[in-house]
Amino acid sequence: MGDPKGFITVPRQPAGYRPAKERIYDYGEVEQTLNDKERRQQASRCMDCGIPFCHWGCPVGSKIPEWQDALYRGNKEEAYLVLQSTNSFPEITGRVCPAPCEKACVLEIHEEPVTIRENECATIEQAFEAGLVIPNPPQTRTGKKVAVIGSGPAGLSAADLLNKAGHHVTVFEKSDAIGGLLRYGIPDFKLNKRVIDRRLSIFADEGIEFKTEVNVGQDITKNELLKEFNAVLIAVGAEQPRDLPVEGRDLEGVHFAMDFLTCQNKINSGKNVSEAEKISAKDKNVLVIGGGDTGSDCVGTSIRQKARSVTQIEILPKPSEKRTENDHWPYWPNTLRTSSSHEEGCERRWSLSTKQFVGEKGKLKQVEVVQVEWNKDENDRWVMTEVPGTVEKIDAELVLLSMGFTQPVHNGLLDALDVEYDQRGNVKVDARKQTSVNKIFAAGDAEKGATLVVHAIEAGKVAAREIDAFLAEEGK
Ligand SMILES: Cc1cc2nc3c(=O)[nH]c(=O)nc-3n(C[C@H](O)[C@H](O)[C@H](O)COP(=O)(O)OP(=O)(O)OC[C@H]3O[C@@H](n4cnc5c(N)ncnc54)[C@H](O)[C@@H]3O)c2cc1C
Ligand code: SF4
Repeated sequence: MGDPKGFITVPRQPAGYRPAKERIYDYGEVEQTLNDKERRQQASRCMDCGIPFCHWGCPVGSKIPEWQDALYRGNKEEAYLVLQSTNSFPEITGRVCPAPCEKACVLEIHEEPVTIRENECATIEQAFEAGLVIPNPPQTRTGKKVAVIGSGPAGLSAADLLNKAGHHVTVFEKSDAIGGLLRYGIPDFKLNKRVIDRRLSIFADEGIEFKTEVNVGQDITKNELLKEFNAVLIAVGAEQPRDLPVEGRDLEGVHFAMDFLTCQNKINSGKNVSEAEKISAKDKNVLVIGGGDTGSDCVGTSIRQKARSVTQIEILPKPSEKRTENDHWPYWPNTLRTSSSHEEGCERRWSLSTKQFVGEKGKLKQVEVVQVEWNKDENDRWVMTEVPGTVEKIDAELVLLSMGFTQPVHNGLLDALDVEYDQRGNVKVDARKQTSVNKIFAAGDAEKGATLVVHAIEAGKVAAREIDAFLAEEGK
């Protein structure tokens, strides 16, 4: 433990964002950084608890107190090595993770948790600057070949560990670039794509083979896969968006959030986007349907595209600003989350259900919504009812559907592989991430349903461990 009084003498100090009036004119990362002295002071706030609840709260089991201590002492190499030991991409979780560790930190009881996520980002960035993060290819190769299908955080995390174990790993990606939702979902203002490229270049130097624009299931058959590879990992994400099949859904101007976000991410990276693919918020009244993170990313992107107005609606009631009696530490709180994008100028409304999209000559003009109430029925289930007399129309020329994802896409690869699905339509796996088909494993959103980067990384770790054990068994 660095400074036994740090948590008393040093207040929590998040680095904050660049001023809104400046950042809305570019797609650069919005988050700022502290200087070295201030960062070490923040690390000194960690109490090195006997039971580190932060560690319990972190899906990848980050050894948080250990690297806080090293960070405080200024031992960059030690901090980096401990941090990297449980996570292949601390530079990514350090930027985009909602940090369940901080909600579980003992100092959260007084709403002043250690700035774990920012400390993580600073630790890994310092390590890159100091030249500590360099390719470290395996000394020997096992001769076993593993195919990873999908290059999001689950696939990449597994690929890294399987490669380090000496297996030859090929990552197949149907898109034109590696990264999954990190690349084309999460906007640049949260995650600069150079951060992904920097890590991918290390992975390539370590021997991972990447193949883009290969739609497995279509370009490679199941038989070819199983013949060429000793094991296969499905890490294809949960790409099936939840739709809103109300009247007017086919009007021009109603789009899925991912089509909108992908388009802007491609433009930012200098890719050619055809006129037919382009979706622009410029000079439009934008209505984002869905109050979660994807919706918030649509808000920030619409603002940067110079929308006339941006409104985000959510069908559920507004959460409370603070933890309630039944929403206590150290669990993840169901409280109101306000992102940097929300602060940039957006109206947020809750308890609104969409009844229909209203258009003129095939183009969206308005969205009809109604206020709803949520009450428990006799079986203790939440039931939604419309509030009479509250129907209204909101002007909107662009609607972005951000209501989450239902499951992985079955049609194509998964049906061809003939894997079983669970009740929610995700790929069914056992505790070893093994699917119903021998040699084929699955990890990430494809088997969990849409969740977080940090869960995908952990799922990739578990799959890598189990595939390694499977290959060892196979070799006997
Ligand atoms: C807009 C948006 C913002 C988000 N922001 C955050 C955030 O800030 N923080 C956070 O923690 N989480 C965030 N998430 C969630 C997070 O991105 C996902 O949980 C995570 O990326 C899932 O990782 P994955 O590897 O399972 O799948 P994905 O990242 O979805 O990657 C799957 C990859 O598989 C490829 N693929 C699919 N089928 C095939 C095939 N047949 N052949 C070859 N390749 C194929 C896809 O093209 C894709 O690249 C966000 C999600 C979205 C949509
Ligand atoms: S719970 Fe908070 S204070 Fe305790 S060890 Fe973890 S980060 Fe440090």
